[in-house]
Amino acid sequence: MRHLEAPPAADLGVRQTRGAMDSRRTVFLDLNGTLVAPVVVERLQDLTLIAGVSEAIARLSRTGYVCPVVTVQSRIEKGLFSEADFRAWFGCLSRELAAAGAYVVGPYVCPHRFRTPCACKKPQTLLYERAAVEHGLELRDAYVVGDSAADIEAALRFGGRGCFVSSGCVTEDADCARGMAKCSRDSMAEVVDWILAEGAAEQQCS
Ligand SMILES: [Mg+2]
Ligand SMILES: [Zn+2]
Repeated sequence: MRHLEAPPAADLGVRQTRGAMDSRRTVFLDLNGTLVAPVVVERLQDLTLIAGVSEAIARLSRTGYVCPVVTVQSRIEKGLFSEADFRAWFGCLSRELAAAGAYVVGPYVCPHRFRTPCACKKPQTLLYERAAVEHGLELRDAYVVGDSAADIEAALRFGGRGCFVSSGCVTEDADCARGMAKCSRDSMAEVVDWILAEGAAEQQCS
């Protein structure tokens, strides 16, 4: 018969670290149609921030949420712009957001066309997993905010919560996305209202 033993010190260390990780809650953000519009664009310079998005992300940042941006940019493989061009453009966007107190990390990019088989395209979870490893995040119960079914399905696959937002313009698979989503709203501001209310309710229960 085995004696019940206190866990080794190393295990306690892991538990304490995990406690700290839980407090860094995560909201994955889609880019096109969620943060910037229009959804279909030939030139990166034609994309602009959707009204109210910086204020909404700033509220998440103030509450301690980490917000990785996960995006499919099939125009990179099509040759309309390079991944370096995209990352430079994103750098400008994230500086503009940071100036408003809205902090995002990434981007985590799938550069492939929709028909190209790859391991990184949503709703596959590779890019979310990569972000979680790089920033020490828990995927379970993390939120995904997006305007298409692939965003919401990715959340389902890794045990997260999908939030559908229709602020950009309505995508073809909007009804499918709504059906799978935990919450469905017309603006990022309203999605963030919902997330913060959920987070507050969970803290009261724990
Ligand atoms: Mg989108
Ligand atoms: Zn890919």
